[in-house]
Amino acid sequence: MRIGAHVDPTDPLVEAAARGAEAVQFFLTDPQGYKSPTPRDDAAELRASEVDIYIHAPYIVNVASPNNRIRIPSRKLLLAHARAAAELGAKGLIVHGGHVGAGADLDAGFVNWRKAFEYAEKEGGLPLPILIENTAGGDNACARRFDDLARLWDAVGSFGAGFCLDTCHAFAGGEDLLNIVDRVKAITGRIDLIHANDSKGGFDSGQDRHDNLGNGKIDPELVVAAIRASGAPAIVETPGGVEGQSADIALLRERSGA
Ligand SMILES: [Zn+2]
Repeated sequence: MRIGAHVDPTDPLVEAAARGAEAVQFFLTDPQGYKSPTPRDDAAELRASEVDIYIHAPYIVNVASPNNRIRIPSRKLLLAHARAAAELGAKGLIVHGGHVGAGADLDAGFVNWRKAFEYAEKEGGLPLPILIENTAGGDNACARRFDDLARLWDAVGSFGAGFCLDTCHAFAGGEDLLNIVDRVKAITGRIDLIHANDSKGGFDSGQDRHDNLGNGKIDPELVVAAIRASGAPAIVETPGGVEGQSADIALLRERSGA
């Protein structure tokens, strides 16, 4: 079982070593911007590394959006990040499930998701798995409630979409963590990655506020149980830099016997 952390993109392998991490996740560009990624000087080093690499797409990517000024650039950006991530030997590109906005029809969001995959296929295909992540909130979110996730999967499952389960987002999004892996797998058939985070916000609060394990509102045993049941690698996206994340990684290793 491989455990790692979300780190600063400047020198991810140094960050991994500092935390004793077997996996790292980072952004290729400003997560709030529409900039396309540029080639990295350390690409060969990342590709050759023993550390598993995961890339997180920018937060502003929302391929579900009914607004074509958001949806179209999002589609293009997702493919650009997928290509750049593959250049680094990444195992997956994580992207949030997105949302359609208050008052809009969620069905349109699922259709738009399918169109994003169709667009990528038409442009030569996705060079690595896209891991769709459940979200804590968002107006009319595609992947907050699992009944909506099931509809999303009806739209994208056939394209080989992967899934990233964030424990903070699930809890704050109103999904019980007990036996969550079974419930997700009944829908998606797979969990490719766990984002192992505690939550500052309460159950069903809709708040996306990560906390160090054992510090927030989630029983850390439920996070450990989700990692164990999924058999998937885990990434902590928690505060506190090297010290805070090393403690979270140590807790997961100790309690999961990894
Ligand atoms: Zn996450």
